[in-house]
Amino acid sequence: MTKNPLCSADTGKIIDILKTAGIGDDPNWMAVILFVRNLLTKLSVFTDEKKAEIQREICAEILKKDFSDERYDIIVAMLDMYIMQNIGTQELEEALTKEKQSAALLLQEMNDIINSMQGVNKLHSDRLDSFQASATNAIQGGTNKTAILSRVRGMFQELITEFKDEARELNAKADHFERTANFDPLLTGLYNRRAMETFMNSAVKECCDTCTPLSLMLIDVDHFKRVNDTYGHQAGDDVLRALARILTAHALQYDGFAARYGGEELVIIMKDMDLNRAAIKSEAVRADVENYDFRIRTNGQLSEAPLQFTVSVGVAELQKGWNASSLVSAADSAMYKAKNSGRNKVCAASA
Ligand code: GH3
Ligand code: MG
Ligand code: MG
Repeated sequence: MTKNPLCSADTGKIIDILKTAGIGDDPNWMAVILFVRNLLTKLSVFTDEKKAEIQREICAEILKKDFSDERYDIIVAMLDMYIMQNIGTQELEEALTKEKQSAALLLQEMNDIINSMQGVNKLHSDRLDSFQASATNAIQGGTNKTAILSRVRGMFQELITEFKDEARELNAKADHFERTANFDPLLTGLYNRRAMETFMNSAVKECCDTCTPLSLMLIDVDHFKRVNDTYGHQAGDDVLRALARILTAHALQYDGFAARYGGEELVIIMKDMDLNRAAIKSEAVRADVENYDFRIRTNGQLSEAPLQFTVSVGVAELQKGWNASSLVSAADSAMYKAKNSGRNKVCAASA
């Protein structure tokens, strides 16, 4: 077995020499050492004898303690020559071009990600700063990038995996938190009352500031108690879910904010919508509910005949001097008018 002249003791000695020469952390010279010690030994194109010979030669060069740029270029050229002799020129050029491209891409990708992550918090940004400095130096500093590239790529992958995992976890937590904080647990597509109030307060302010209309429709299921009493609470819940789906589909069309106001009372808040248009939208909701083909589920089976349910809708537009609760009250009074005039109706609040 041929002795490897760059055993770790020798490497340690050479690294000491580099340090004494004041270039202990020079990426070019480190790359040469790493290449000769680690990568060269793995290249299957050389016999073991040849590898040892190359290592001895490079060691001898390094022990001359001339660390000028010219000497570095000579050593790299020697390495290039050995590799060229053993690997087809074209093959090597392709490999080097690919390495250069991937180095450039890697640097670009790394900078993009680092820029987008910068400032998340002090800990991250310190880690990123030091990583960015050492990795950028290592990539940009060398002319023969192969050895440093694999090291930097490893460091980078590790860092990114760590950040991605952390970000994924944070996103999942934030999503979960947002859903429990803002969405209704039964009608999961609708915002809850708390979110509705927050939205309303800022919408009222915005519409007052911009002099744009703001309307609200309040939707209440007709004789809902009967549905519960006749078909059970589960069927009642299913009716509410169906209603939530209808409202969500309508709200999406005009960027409305659909929320659950109370038990079987839902709302859609419509920015930039006056009373006339809001009444037309309300009538469309009412008609869709009336025509909805709802089936009751019993033990997973849907009923043969549909169960028709209807809603009464009150609609109002924000008036001068009103706040969010005045708007809800006006829509509520209009909704009661709709109930009193026979249900399955839309009533608009008078200004
Ligand atoms: P009206 O036409 O006058 O609105 O009659 P109604 O029966 O719909 O009105 P009422 O206010 O008397 O009853 C509302 C019912 O809604 C009572 C309550 O048990 C039921 N309810 C409220 N929230 C839910 C819910 O989340 N699920 C189910 N299944 N029922 C609910
Ligand atoms: Mg009600
Ligand atoms: Mg009701």
